[in-house]
Amino acid sequence: MSDPFFQPVSGFEVPRFAGVPTFMRLPHVEHGHDRFNDVQIGLIGVPWDSGTTNRPGPRHGPRQLRDASTMMRAQHAVSGMRPFEAANCADLGDVGPNPADIIDSMDRITTFYNKVMDAGIVPLTAGGDHLTSLPVLRAVAKDGPVGMVHFDSHTDLFDSYFGGTQYTHGTPFRRAVEEGLLDPKKVVQIGIRGTMYDTEDRDFAAANGIRLILIEEFHARGVEDVMAEAREIAGSGPTYVSYDIDFVDPTFAPGTGTPEVGGPNSWQAIQVCRELAGLNIVGADMVEVSPPFDQSGGTAFLGVSIMYEMLCVMAGQVAG
Ligand code: MN
Ligand code: MN
Repeated sequence: MSDPFFQPVSGFEVPRFAGVPTFMRLPHVEHGHDRFNDVQIGLIGVPWDSGTTNRPGPRHGPRQLRDASTMMRAQHAVSGMRPFEAANCADLGDVGPNPADIIDSMDRITTFYNKVMDAGIVPLTAGGDHLTSLPVLRAVAKDGPVGMVHFDSHTDLFDSYFGGTQYTHGTPFRRAVEEGLLDPKKVVQIGIRGTMYDTEDRDFAAANGIRLILIEEFHARGVEDVMAEAREIAGSGPTYVSYDIDFVDPTFAPGTGTPEVGGPNSWQAIQVCRELAGLNIVGADMVEVSPPFDQSGGTAFLGVSIMYEMLCVMAGQVAG
């Protein structure tokens, strides 16, 4: 039975442009709230981009994504899923980062997510740049390595930047493998493309058994075939889903720091999410939405549309 407390504000009662914009118009339930332990899926903002090596801005992502998310309605058009009735969903607020200190920020993020995991809440994160996924995984995978389905133009598997800097948005999954947070044989990275520095990241993937599905293969095989393989790789074990908005072609998602041409369109961008059904999802994120480069607001709208698709799959999993 759906819990009245966890229902979003209806657009039939208060117009969707009015009111304080929480994620999907859900109740705001921070740690310490008396309903915190009843939340099943928590939407969390991580307004942070200190890992960004080129064009910044994802620190403004959560606020923009919350605003755009007021466009989401109660029911999925194809599956019929009503996610807010199938699971207790809430906006858990933002992690307050330290914009001047990467290590301190990561500790703050992990501390926040440890409380979320301890309460049995499945987190759906709005970043933030892609380094956000590392401190989140430190909490999500604290009991052992997880698999990952990763949508991105980039592998984010580099060792370091600028002569030894270990923590940037180009390195999170290299660190996650080294720290035992990811089981590389259960990791698939989809949509990889663009000009390259060198092959260091791809060599690391090959040496560790990470499956890369380059964009050429994605376009040749199509969404359903590629995603069937992704589900097979991740298997039935705990799986994290990480979605970098630069997976999508910059025609549809220009508001991001490191765009790469030749990517999926907005239809394929949501289609891949529908194909996640059947996985054992223990957390998901939408990262790298950069409002300063999002002149139309369309990138944030696509970002929350993708979050809604992922949320529907996650809610179906909670409902059983
Ligand atoms: Mn990325
Ligand atoms: Mn990327």
